[in-house]
Amino acid sequence: MSTGNFDEEFDFVVVGSGGGAMCAALVMRKAGKSVLVVEKTDLLGGTTSRSGGVMWIPNNRFMKEAGVPDSYEQAMAYMEATAGQSVDAPGTTLERRQAYVNEGPRMVDFLVEQGIKLRRAPSWPDYYDERAGGSVPGRTVLADLFDTNELGEWKKKLRPNFMAIPAYHAEGFEISTFKSSWTGKFTMLKVGMRVALAKLTGKAWTTAGGALQGRMLQACLKAGVQFRTDSAVKSFVTEEGVVKGVVVAAQGGDLRIGARLGVLVNAGGFAQNQAMRDQYMPGTSVEWTAAGPGDTGEMIRELMALGAATGQMNERVGNQMTIPPGVENTDGQGVTLGAISGQMNYAKPHSIVVDQTGVRYMNEGGSYMAFCQNLLKRNETVPALPSWWISDEQSMRKYMFCGTMPGTKKPQEWYDSGFLMRADTIEELARMIDIDPATLRATVDRFNAGARAGRDDEFNRGARAYDEWLGDHYHHPSNALGTIDQGPFYAAKVWPGDVGTYGGVVTDVHARVLRVDGSAIPGLYATGTTTASVMGRVYPGAGSSVGPSFVFGFIAAKHAANASNSL
Ligand SMILES: Cc1cc2nc3c(=O)[nH]c(=O)nc-3n(C[C@H](O)[C@H](O)[C@H](O)COP(=O)(O)OP(=O)(O)OC[C@H]3O[C@@H](n4cnc5c(N)ncnc54)[C@H](O)[C@@H]3O)c2cc1C
Repeated sequence: MSTGNFDEEFDFVVVGSGGGAMCAALVMRKAGKSVLVVEKTDLLGGTTSRSGGVMWIPNNRFMKEAGVPDSYEQAMAYMEATAGQSVDAPGTTLERRQAYVNEGPRMVDFLVEQGIKLRRAPSWPDYYDERAGGSVPGRTVLADLFDTNELGEWKKKLRPNFMAIPAYHAEGFEISTFKSSWTGKFTMLKVGMRVALAKLTGKAWTTAGGALQGRMLQACLKAGVQFRTDSAVKSFVTEEGVVKGVVVAAQGGDLRIGARLGVLVNAGGFAQNQAMRDQYMPGTSVEWTAAGPGDTGEMIRELMALGAATGQMNERVGNQMTIPPGVENTDGQGVTLGAISGQMNYAKPHSIVVDQTGVRYMNEGGSYMAFCQNLLKRNETVPALPSWWISDEQSMRKYMFCGTMPGTKKPQEWYDSGFLMRADTIEELARMIDIDPATLRATVDRFNAGARAGRDDEFNRGARAYDEWLGDHYHHPSNALGTIDQGPFYAAKVWPGDVGTYGGVVTDVHARVLRVDGSAIPGLYATGTTTASVMGRVYPGAGSSVGPSFVFGFIAAKHAANASNSL
């Protein structure tokens, strides 16, 4: 569509209201430019707002303040040992990885200067901490809890977070150990008191992505950013190949909105679009996604129509899932993450994951993206979709399962529906799930022999700091390994779910959208899961999706505003 009279004009228009959108909008306002954020759904914040809200930002100010070692060189060594190893991944050029490591800490500084209260996760090892440049304390940044009442009228416009209680991640992890530790019990009491005090003082705390995006929304509103909800961008307005604005489907009809300095697309990926999954990642299902309802991919298609190149379209941020009845993604809102069991559960002692022949085939710890890649790869040669989580009474007694507190009492419906299987012996359990009893017995025996010695000779589970961190800090000799030898025994299906997609349009070091010939489409920027990730086919650490969205939003806005690097 070519340009003409616009219904409205702004300096910068942002499509979608993810983290990158908010960050870019703030940069633009700081540079004195007018900004409109156009959001398709009725709520602001995107999947980012419902997410864990953590950002993986190497060499950040909070690491320095805490005396945690990191440097540009160390971070780049790690980037090269992880993202840099990706094959056929145009989203992750050396220059873009360098831009990420350079600009990430500046982005954090900028947000802090704008009054966004952030902090470092006290301990969250990189997911490949054993590789060159890996950090065991970790590089993850998150927002302070946020009282959504501070948003006033806008409170009801913020997409809710998945965490039911106002706790930091570290507190949540501690609470899950309350059966085996005093720290867990104390943390539970502390969070309980926070809830009680909030009732008395009229606070409406939110945490994780809700806190991050709540704080971002607050800062944006204060800075004069304009927001429109229920407004889907349909297409771009171009003039001689330059993007000049967007066409928005609004209630009273289409609106043509001009963008003098450019358009930034932060419209998420396509996790909620089965047709695009069938095309780019066959064998995966919208039923297993926890991504938000707006993640339907039409903006990626629209960018492709403008000539944008794409990359890594078959990658997702995999997230292993055991989905109990009632929380499935049947309504397009995404699986309710609070009620599923996943990585934190399968990586704990007293359980393993096996394929449909009863054989273990991977380290159940490690990155969730790698877990799901492994599952789908295994399924190419041995039936593994779904796989089976096998555990025992110790596991049920000590750890949370599918949103229920530790303990062997589980909803009767779970047994009646066949969602959760239970048997007195491993052999009986194997028969219930149609696996050869002798094979499962042999798998469990092999695992148990290693677990007693605190070793996993087959897959090295527990060898890296991250595996230990995922495990049970009160379990010895290994935090990650514990025998499966106390009946009754349990089984549940494991699906290769996801929290979003990881491929999209190819962008350059300035977050400009590139054509297939490598040239930039003038006036057009993109960030977040609309783009082919700077992390390639790897998830280097906690926050490797939200982090890049913010960083390349920051970069895009600075480029478009032609603002100085010292912003
Ligand atoms: C439960 C959960 C926990 C997670 N935890 C983390 C975490 O802690 N750290 C991490 O890095 N990742 C995490 N992830 C993944 C991460 O949240 C997402 O990958 C990320 O938030 C995507 O952000 P984004 O910036 O690409 O866009 P989003 O936050 O998804 O925002 C995109 C917005 O664009 C809107 N939109 C789409 N199309 C249009 C259109 N045509 N016009 C206008 N608007 C449009 C959408 O409605 C949406 O609001 C988690 C995901 C989930 C579900």
